[in-house]
Amino acid sequence: MSDYYATLGVSRDASTEEIKRAYRKLARQHHPDVAGPGSEDKFKEIAAAHETLSNPEKRQMYDMGGQPGMGGAGAGFGFSDIFETFFQAAAGGGGSRGPASRARRGQDALLRISIELSEAAFGVTKDIEVETAVLCTTCQGSCCRPGTSPTTCEVCHGRGSVQRMARSFLGQVMTTTACANCSGFGSIITDPCTECAGEGRVRTQRTVRVNVPAGVDDGTRIKLTGQGEVGPAGGPPGDLYVEVREKRHPLFTRRGDDLHCTTELPMTAAALGTVLELDTLDGARELDIRPGTQPDEVVTLRGLGVGHLNGGGRGDLHVHVQVSVPTKLDEEQERLLRELAGLRSEERPEARLAPAGNGVFSRLREKFQGR
Ligand code: ZN
Repeated sequence: MSDYYATLGVSRDASTEEIKRAYRKLARQHHPDVAGPGSEDKFKEIAAAHETLSNPEKRQMYDMGGQPGMGGAGAGFGFSDIFETFFQAAAGGGGSRGPASRARRGQDALLRISIELSEAAFGVTKDIEVETAVLCTTCQGSCCRPGTSPTTCEVCHGRGSVQRMARSFLGQVMTTTACANCSGFGSIITDPCTECAGEGRVRTQRTVRVNVPAGVDDGTRIKLTGQGEVGPAGGPPGDLYVEVREKRHPLFTRRGDDLHCTTELPMTAAALGTVLELDTLDGARELDIRPGTQPDEVVTLRGLGVGHLNGGGRGDLHVHVQVSVPTKLDEEQERLLRELAGLRSEERPEARLAPAGNGVFSRLREKFQGR
């Protein structure tokens, strides 16, 4: 399948309006009446791209890597399905293929779920409600009222196609087209099942269990084969795709399978060292702050990040230390600090200049913020 977005020269997140505008412009340029007969293929490609991308459902299917043609018109048990069958039957030609089957594969569906960061870290099993179509138990997908069966089409006598003489630039030719009376099915349902209105399937709510593995990323799609809707006339079910959205965690920011957070540390604790009690995804953990910890230093707790998607192990939790300097000192505190400054000969420190943004700290920050 060609890249429809490239064909129309739009980005993958272009709005429907942008897609239509791009299509109109290109269609004018490449219309065979304007650009000559050589442009016909290009024109068809543009039309196909527009057909798919301007329809939200087809676009979704296309984005998922599905075949847009496989789907129907959606909620209303699409008529486009029937026409596709019709044209496929017609294109098959030759009359040797026999009538088209009413049963066709159901549409794929896409569903979004939100999960917490901890659920992404450890994996989770979710039961989700889906609105879908299932086999009609009254007619078992035959579409006929129980005890009845379809009657053979009297126009095509069950062949599903009719032959006709047609005039073309080659002279008279025999063409085979799908029978319009029975839509190419070769039979007509005269007594449709009342439960499903002759569709062979009914709409319903169903609970689907999804196993979300540890390490899924925001936007990951999990494919549940055969969990989509049952097709027309009890055709095989499509697939269900579950797209995982990860909720923002108030404290931890995820980068890959690593987590990052900051902690504020009093100047004295940074100088003297301490042990901080930290609420991690795994519960309380002790964070060792060694004496002489610098502002923006990163202390890492190994293996407390998100589980790796493929295989064992987990990412790390990086704690970025922010050293806070007291702004209000009482007399006693000020006296002690002055005394300390005196002991360290820091009462009048020398200016030690460095170019802006070139320090070791900003390099550290860059490292953990992903370049
Ligand atoms: Zn039925």
